[in-house]
Formats: sequence, structure tokens, C-alpha cells
Amino acid sequence: MRASAYPLVEVDDAAALVLEHTPVLGVERVALAHCIGRVLAEDLVARESLPLFPSSAVDGYALRSADAGKPLRVLGESAAGRPFAGAIEPGTAARILTGGVLPDGADCVVMVEDVRLEGDVVTAPAPLHAGINFHRPGADVRAGERVVAAGTQLGAAELGLAAALNFPRLPVYRRPRVALMSTGDELVEVGEKPGRGQIVDSNRWALLAALREVGAEVRSLGIGPDEAEALRKLVVDALREVDVLVTSGGVSVGTHDLIKPLLESLGTVHIGRVKLKPGKPFTFATLPNGRIAFGLPGFPVSSLVTFEVFVRPALRKMQGLAGLQRPTLPVRLAYDARANADRTEYQRVRLRREGGELVAETTGSQSSSRLMSLAGAHALVRIPPGDEGISAGTVVEALILALP
Ligand code: AMP
Ligand code: MG
Repeated sequence: MRASAYPLVEVDDAAALVLEHTPVLGVERVALAHCIGRVLAEDLVARESLPLFPSSAVDGYALRSADAGKPLRVLGESAAGRPFAGAIEPGTAARILTGGVLPDGADCVVMVEDVRLEGDVVTAPAPLHAGINFHRPGADVRAGERVVAAGTQLGAAELGLAAALNFPRLPVYRRPRVALMSTGDELVEVGEKPGRGQIVDSNRWALLAALREVGAEVRSLGIGPDEAEALRKLVVDALREVDVLVTSGGVSVGTHDLIKPLLESLGTVHIGRVKLKPGKPFTFATLPNGRIAFGLPGFPVSSLVTFEVFVRPALRKMQGLAGLQRPTLPVRLAYDARANADRTEYQRVRLRREGGELVAETTGSQSSSRLMSLAGAHALVRIPPGDEGISAGTVVEALILALP
């Protein structure tokens, strides 16, 4: 067993190495209904203008602005979807409804509230200006204009825009397909009663949520045993259908820790230890056919923190996203943060707003087994190694998970 021979890699070097070996996935054309949250692979360029025709913004009368103050004969009506067939000559007008086409000859619309109507004769107040109360063709979007840039994650407004511009499908990056497995003979499924020495598998549910949140399609492999051959078979079978393997547990140096040797036999292990707390045994490998594997540590907080630092950015890169990292904001520490002597530490904090600032309070014991340190945390504060630490009152940049 050579597990301890892996060099200890700096966190930033490890993160860069992971991204360097992470491929961007292919592109597929997907119906709008399935595009929510997907990442656009090509610039979306309008083939037509919006609106396509001069369209009334109000209910009223379409007329020539030069006819302001004169009695005008109402020739007919232009309703949404039912245009007026004729043209507006001097001395005439047409009733128009919101969304109706501005008839030929008219150059403005006067709101129904502002006219005087007697029988079929309408009079609009003077003076009037050409161009009022209707949307010109191309006022919203001009044909040929780039409306959504490649690399944008598609939300409600972007999908509405694509539909308005008559694109039934969009080119988007594939979602990463991920096989997810917990390992450990001590684990039982949630809902089962653990026997003496057993614990409930919680990592798979935490990681399932984290993977889905970042846009992955997850295939659960359940609980893998601490037995090399069975583990190998499970992984080899699953790898046929996925882009990424994520495991938890089995990466430290105990004799039952089988993930590193397994990944070594299947591909190349690039990272086997990181100067990170929690998450020192984090393991990363490349496998044949552009696939990658993450061996996350077993302790629940370690698995989620290493997911944050290494897996999440990689899965975002795979989907073509431009921004890979969480946003950061300055926060003022409300506690003395002690540093680890040799490892960069990601401490979990809760934030509150105080006098226009964000103030960070520790979530308590930062033990890597204590999920309560991460549940409800708003941010991660990075504490550089050394014996200094960061004292209360200092402002630091924190990785924001959620704002209070
Ligand atoms: P390992 O890295 O396999 O030695 O796991 C370290 C510790 O993490 C174990 O002793 C368990 O307490 C815990 N652990 C491992 N896997 C899981 C899991 N799937 N869910 C919850 N805790 C786990
Ligand atoms: Mg284990």
C-alpha cells in the first residue's frame, strides 16, 4: 500500500490541477421545456425583430398626428391578432386594442381615455406627436442582435426570450452524468436500524443533493463494501455510462481504504493528499475516455467541503459555465479564528447583517464529523495555515453559500 506516499498538494494547486484535467462536455439541442438551468453553448442571435410589426401599447385610436383636434371618422378596428385591413387617410381613424397592428397611414395611438367619441366620430386632443403609444418594429430586439451569450445559464427570462424569437430548441451543454457511491462496511441504508458499530450512510444523500444542485444527472451505486474485488466490479460497471465517479470514504491510509489503489489500477491518480482541513485525503484521478473520478473523504463535513472546493467547480466547467467559483463578499469575523499549523482550513460560519456589514459567527466545533457545523452555514472562511490565525474584528473575503 503506497497511500501515504502521495505528496501533500497545496489547495489552490490541487484545485487548478482538477480543472486542468476536467473536460467540457459536448453540446446537444434540447427542447425549451428541458432547458431550464442548462448552459447555452452558442450565442443566441435573433433571426427576426421584436416586435415584428408596429404594435399598440394601449387601447385607443390609431390616427395621423396631423389630425389632432379634428373630428375623425372611425373606419374599423385593429385588435390583437386581427389587423385592420384598410389604411388611415386624412380625416379618419381606427379603433385599436393593445397588441393590435398599427394600421398603414397612422403614426400614433391615442388612449381611449383621452378622446371624445360621438357615434362613429372621434376627436383626439391637440397637439399629438408621431410615434406615441405603440412599439416600433425592433424596439425590443433588432434582427441580427445577440440576445443571450454562450456560457449563460438559462433562466426564465432567457427562455421567454428564446420562445419569443421562435427558437423551439436551444444548443446547450450536456449535463454531467455522475455515478455516486458511498463506501464502508459500517454503513447501513437510511431507514434501516444500525447494528452495534454501524452508522447510517448520510454522505450519499448530502452529495446527491449537492450534485443535483450543480446540475448533474446522478446514478446512485448505493453502498460499496470494503472489499477490493466487489468494489472494483461495481465501479467498472458504472463507469460505462457516466462521465464522473464520486465516492466517499475509503481514501485514508487504513488497510480497508481501497479507493486510491482502485483508481490507480483504472487510471491515473493526480492528487492523493491535500493541505486542506477538513479533507486532507481528497483524491482525484483521470480515467480512460475523458472520465474523471473524485474520491472524497468519509467524514461528512470533509466530503461536502471537498465537494465545494474541487467537485463543484469541475462540474460547472463540464457544463460550459464561465464562472466556476462561488461569489465572495467581505465579512467581519466575530470570533478569533485559530489556524491549523500546516493546512488551509475552511471554517463554516453563519452571517448576520449589522450596520451595513456582514458579520461572521462560527458555527461551533469545526470537527469534520459534525454536520451541524455546516447545516445552516452561510459561508466558508478560508484560514491560511500557520500559527497566526485571524483575530475577531478582521474583515476577510468569504465564500458565500447563501445570504442571511
Ligand atoms: P473512511 O474515510 O472510510 O475511513 O471514513 C471515515 C469516517 O467517515 C468513518 O469512520 C465514518 O464515521 C464516516 N463515514 C464514512 N462514510 C460515511 C457515509 N457514507 N456517511 C456518513 N459517514 C460516513
Ligand atoms: Mg471507510
